[in-house]
Amino acid sequence: MWEPGSLTTRRAVPRSHPRAESLLIRSRLVDGFDSGLVAREGLLAQGRGEAFDYLLGEKTGRPARRAIRAAAAALLLAKSPIVSINGNAAALCAAELVSLSVQAGAKLEVNLFYASKRREQAIARMLKKCGAREVLGINPASSARLHGTDSARGRVDRDGILAADVVVVPLEDGDRTAALRKAGKTVITFDLNPLSRTSQTAHITIVDNITRAAGLLAADIQRMAGKDRRVLRQTVSDYNNRSNLAESIAQIRNNLARRARLA
Ligand code: ATP
Repeated sequence: MWEPGSLTTRRAVPRSHPRAESLLIRSRLVDGFDSGLVAREGLLAQGRGEAFDYLLGEKTGRPARRAIRAAAAALLLAKSPIVSINGNAAALCAAELVSLSVQAGAKLEVNLFYASKRREQAIARMLKKCGAREVLGINPASSARLHGTDSARGRVDRDGILAADVVVVPLEDGDRTAALRKAGKTVITFDLNPLSRTSQTAHITIVDNITRAAGLLAADIQRMAGKDRRVLRQTVSDYNNRSNLAESIAQIRNNLARRARLA
């Protein structure tokens, strides 16, 4: 389960505050920034996410549950799955993402939009502290290029993302998502904004806060692990990302309509 931020921030956000959960998630990012995990831009990305979480009602909706099920099936069917970790993902829910990688038999790769050796090392240390045995993406000797992105943004691990068939890329940028898709990977993302290019480009978009959804995905993988491969394939082929995203957008519209009537 998600743990609140540092003692200082925990004291500063009383549990009784009506927006306590959101403020505590924010404090995790700030702590992550202070400890060198998160880029400055990452704080802004969190702001964009928060706004959409607000509009979605700050809960895991039906479309997110459906996407999580499809993602669990795709990961269980994968030959070589991987979870890509950036600073925000590490600061928000490193433990859940490590547990997700264990359940899915997936590798972990540190992969940053704003590349920095120090941040890569700090994120790898955090993942190891949470139980990760191996963390890819930090050894320059196994660095490779993902075509379709500029050189700084296209660096991936030869034994990780480059070799993977199914890639989980939380809180990702649209260009890199498109490049992964073009490279023939099945792309799964967590993104609170159903309108983002990443959401629109991925094969499976989980429109939910990663702090809620990462643990749910790990739990679904565990629950579905014994299922017949035919059933898993059916779950994936029954899933339609376009209509699922449309439902998330409708969830926002319905929330707004309800509020507009009450105003
Ligand atoms: P795109 O290039 O896909 O259009 P973007 O430029 O809007 O993306 P980025 O800053 O590259 O956004 O990526 C951050 C994305 O992650 C945003 O879409 C934001 O809504 C989402 N996001 C931020 N925080 C969270 C969170 N805690 N859980 C899930 N999604 C989040």
